[in-house]
Amino acid sequence: MSGVVAIKSNDSVVQKLFYSLSSIQHRGQDSAGINISDGSHLYRVKAMGLVNEVFNDNNLKYHDGKIGIGHVRSAPEGCNRDYNVEPLLSFVKDNELSIAHDGNLINYYGLKSKEENNGMVFHTQTDSELILFLIARYFEGDIVKAVRRAMEDIKGAYSCVLCMPDKIVGFRDYNGIRPLMIGFDDENVVIASENAAIEILDIDNYRDVKAGEIVVVDKDGIKSYPMDEKASYKSCIFEYVYTARPDANIENTNAYMFRRRSGELLYDQAPVEADLVCPVPDSGTPSAIGFSQRSGIPFAAGLVKNRYMGRTFIKSNQKERELAVRLKLNPQKSVIDGKRIVLVDDSIVRGTTSEKLIERIRKAGAKEVHLRVTSPPFINPCYYGVDTPDKDKLIAAKMSIDDIRKKIGADSLEFLSLENILKLTNNPDNYCTACFTGSYPVVKEKI
Ligand code: 5GP
Ligand code: SF4
Ligand code: MG
Repeated sequence: MSGVVAIKSNDSVVQKLFYSLSSIQHRGQDSAGINISDGSHLYRVKAMGLVNEVFNDNNLKYHDGKIGIGHVRSAPEGCNRDYNVEPLLSFVKDNELSIAHDGNLINYYGLKSKEENNGMVFHTQTDSELILFLIARYFEGDIVKAVRRAMEDIKGAYSCVLCMPDKIVGFRDYNGIRPLMIGFDDENVVIASENAAIEILDIDNYRDVKAGEIVVVDKDGIKSYPMDEKASYKSCIFEYVYTARPDANIENTNAYMFRRRSGELLYDQAPVEADLVCPVPDSGTPSAIGFSQRSGIPFAAGLVKNRYMGRTFIKSNQKERELAVRLKLNPQKSVIDGKRIVLVDDSIVRGTTSEKLIERIRKAGAKEVHLRVTSPPFINPCYYGVDTPDKDKLIAAKMSIDDIRKKIGADSLEFLSLENILKLTNNPDNYCTACFTGSYPVVKEKI
């Protein structure tokens, strides 16, 4: 999973890229990078770490320009290495070109080995390099033509930004799987994964880049090259459940309202008698508010979150994951003791979070713990950029709901039904739900 930003401005973009990237830090915490154009050449600063660890006054002061792109990345297991840090920069027939990508290509390995058999040497383990390579291959002076041609070869999820010395470019796959927005005011044009990265620059005027659309921003302004006839929307529904910030407005649906209504629907679907509704913060909070308002059961912050621990799911082994849950979330005995608790979380993936939490909520004195999950059982891996484990590690793929309930030690367990989650979208046909249904919009090739 990643976050991308591109900015063209009348002033320096260095600080702006820093602010925008900071506001989408939740999309990737392993590395951060920027490429900036001084009008003739591209310069870069990138490293492993969080945005505020990678950039400082010292390494930014040598670079200035009015055009630039940035990236935050969360690396899949085994790929968290410095040579994979984006943006990636290349020379293309005497032009400098850099790319930042969010998503995942499903035909990466096939295309890559074909090129390798022809002698091509790749320098990273990322499919972003393959996209850059293909654009370079097809570039004859017209970046739109080159991108369009590369889009014929690549399959899967890609929301990308490019930087050239005189322009930024954004493009999104034909299914619009991962989000990408464009916003502008009199001074700036910003392309970014989420509107937070645009709004932080005080720009309120933004829209989604359309599925299959290419946008180019240069001295002449914004040009759009849509390809509506090829577009077939399958936007990631999990963005609203978990991935995006609650203030994200993707395809005209607000993530906070989606989550709050998911809590309301979950109460209607699976009511329970209890004393308190407690969220698993932060991603479960809007849904817990919805559940509480609908049920009339008071909302309480029964778990205290350590804000400095990052996202627990990404840890590379089970012991680390369990420890991370403990370090990150602590039950409040004063709230929980003697109470019947409804615990609301957005998803169960491996089952680590819920099992460890319920154990500790009981230790803090809870009389009953009822877990309500605001998405359907997660039974299939995602091939489009959300770093999920293999199917054999997905607890709901291996066990019945009642067996999961017993394993995690809940008094009752309910998942929001597929039918109900689809009611939260403006058109159920326009969303990818593959992790819940197995219905993949673009099919992974056998390798
Ligand atoms: P589990 O502990 O069951 O493996 O994971 C579920 C928890 O991880 C939930 O609390 C949810 O908020 C979070 N989660 C779900 N999907 C993702 C993801 O793709 N990345 C990260 N970092 N966390 C996730
Ligand atoms: Fe999103 Fe799930 Fe589809 Fe992946 S499989 S793109 S997480 S809905
Ligand atoms: Mg969580």
